[in-house]
Amino acid sequence: MTGTLKYETPHSLAELWPLLVSDRELTGFLAGGTDLIVKYKRKQLNLTRFIDLKNIESLKGIWLDENKNLHIGSLTTLTELHTHPLIQKHAPLLAAAARKMASVQIRNRATIGGNLCNAAPSADLAPPLLVLDAVVKLESDQGARELSIKSLFTGPGQTALKIGEVMTEVMVPVSEPSDKVTYLKQGLRQAMDIAMAGVAVKLNMSGNLCQEAAIALGAVAPTPIRVKAAEEWLRGQRINEQSIAKAAELAKIAANPISDVRTTADYRSELVSALVTKAIQECMTQV
Ligand SMILES: Cc1cc2nc3c(=O)[nH]c(=O)nc-3n(C[C@H](O)[C@H](O)[C@H](O)COP(=O)(O)OP(=O)(O)OC[C@H]3O[C@@H](n4cnc5c(N)ncnc54)[C@H](O)[C@@H]3O)c2cc1C
Repeated sequence: MTGTLKYETPHSLAELWPLLVSDRELTGFLAGGTDLIVKYKRKQLNLTRFIDLKNIESLKGIWLDENKNLHIGSLTTLTELHTHPLIQKHAPLLAAAARKMASVQIRNRATIGGNLCNAAPSADLAPPLLVLDAVVKLESDQGARELSIKSLFTGPGQTALKIGEVMTEVMVPVSEPSDKVTYLKQGLRQAMDIAMAGVAVKLNMSGNLCQEAAIALGAVAPTPIRVKAAEEWLRGQRINEQSIAKAAELAKIAANPISDVRTTADYRSELVSALVTKAIQECMTQV
């Protein structure tokens, strides 16, 4: 990378839009910088300017609306996600997933918006937000739009965001107290590691009968995915060894993993099956 890197710090979206009149394609939005700076230093990005979003107050905050939707500002850090009382109460799955990410130092800087916009197939917040049916709000100088999280990821490192669009918030329907939820990830180490596979499960039970199931996988396909076949299979089933084994098998079939520096595709497939099994079992231990 050659030339001078420009750095701008708008204090509002109204201040941001005029900056994008020029060099829109060569601009990187900076949140916590824990992905962006790493990629820039590795010369993986052709950028001439960073626009730092951190002074834009409207991208911060966590609140609950009258329709029981949690609104999470895109600059919310991973630390805020796992410590904020509203997230702990109404989206405990998200709080638990954030707690399992990186280290204290990274969690204090890294944001929910950055995790989603970076769009790594292994992004830890993606499977929980997929099973929670989250919606993201995107804004540009052309206006605002909402997008289901299912439509956000379009490929490894790719999203449906248009150039110059900012993710302003993530909206999550509140979890019912009766929902049983688990996020499991397997890395090479116990801490500070990117997932070789991640599995989020949400079950709504009536006794031992599964009424609704949502299962999402991370790091085992070009994008994080929901596993519809396993969800449909579980709906109406009694949860026992056989029904769990079938759901795990269907999840394994839905996965499309690659081999990379972390592990092989075959091992990832086995992990999907093992983690789905364990996640459903863990859900069933919740009262
Ligand atoms: C040591 C280390 C450990 C890590 N461990 C994990 C882990 O366990 N799990 C995991 O999932 N990730 C991990 N990561 C990756 C990273 O920390 C997360 O993905 C983090 O959430 C990124 O957030 P950020 O605010 O730092 O994003 P940034 O680096 O600031 O941005 C990432 C990308 O998103 C774009 N962007 C950011 N915010 C917005 C917005 N509001 N609107 C539009 N575009 C935006 C940026 O332009 C950039 O392209 C780790 C990284 C490091 C360095």
